[in-house]
Amino acid sequence: MRTGYFSHPTCQQHDMGAGHPESPQRLRAIENQLQQSGLGQDLIHFTPDKAQFADLKLAHSPSSINLVHRTAPKEGQAFLDGDTSMNPFSLDAALLAAGAGIAATDAVVAGELDNAFCAVRPPGHHAEHDLPMGFCLFNNIAISALHALQQEGIESVAILDFDVHHGNGSVDIFADDPRVLVCSSYQHPHYPMRHHDTQAQHIIHCPLDAGSGSQEFRQIIEQKWLRALQWHKPDMIFISAGFDAHRLDPLADLNLHEDDYAWVTQLILDQAQSHAKGRVVSMLEGGYHLQALATSAQQHIKILRGL
Ligand SMILES: [Zn+2]
Repeated sequence: MRTGYFSHPTCQQHDMGAGHPESPQRLRAIENQLQQSGLGQDLIHFTPDKAQFADLKLAHSPSSINLVHRTAPKEGQAFLDGDTSMNPFSLDAALLAAGAGIAATDAVVAGELDNAFCAVRPPGHHAEHDLPMGFCLFNNIAISALHALQQEGIESVAILDFDVHHGNGSVDIFADDPRVLVCSSYQHPHYPMRHHDTQAQHIIHCPLDAGSGSQEFRQIIEQKWLRALQWHKPDMIFISAGFDAHRLDPLADLNLHEDDYAWVTQLILDQAQSHAKGRVVSMLEGGYHLQALATSAQQHIKILRGL
């Protein structure tokens, strides 16, 4: 497999303050792991351009885009919500994170890459149409999915979200857009408790009780994601790749292992081969135990690479 790795140094300069779990060290941990394991050399590395206003507008209201721009500080920190803040690099990092998804999508749709992983931050899946929130400024995966739908031959897509937190932003943005299948597995009840009761045939909620592990996770994915994918037959698959359902993660209480991330990635690749000519773009969301994040992301990328 030709697997692209999209990242930008500015994504490591977005910093929400000492002790914040969504830290620049997260990307460094992944990059060190890829370097030490040698997997990094097997990937094709890209640095993206910033997303444009028109790209952001695919998924967000002008007022929420303007709010993020207006909040961006020249110095110090400025807050969007209690746990989401911006420093002077955050706006560029957010534009580059969205831009990474767009560039990865273009390369995969053009057939230059088989699939891609975007190692970016800030993450995106909590950002709603009208509201940046939960460490997320713009919904990177939603913008990328809507960009894909503008390309010839891409008429339906799927967003598969295995972050431990419900993908409320993606559900909000696509609640009335049946071109986009959204499947989210998540600990419930848990943050953010928004849009988890949205009812639509193309919105698949997979709540898991606190304490659930490999068996419960694999069972619900096989029961609900597979059936939905076989019904929806997406032309391209997007992954909201959060690794915070890992048993060591400090922000939640599920008990997944690295093997589970390899397993779900292989399942997604198999579905992409069946329906979507293998087209997959994966974007980093959460994952807050640095070592677990690094080894889980390594397993995920290794499977994408076909190793
Ligand atoms: Zn999360």
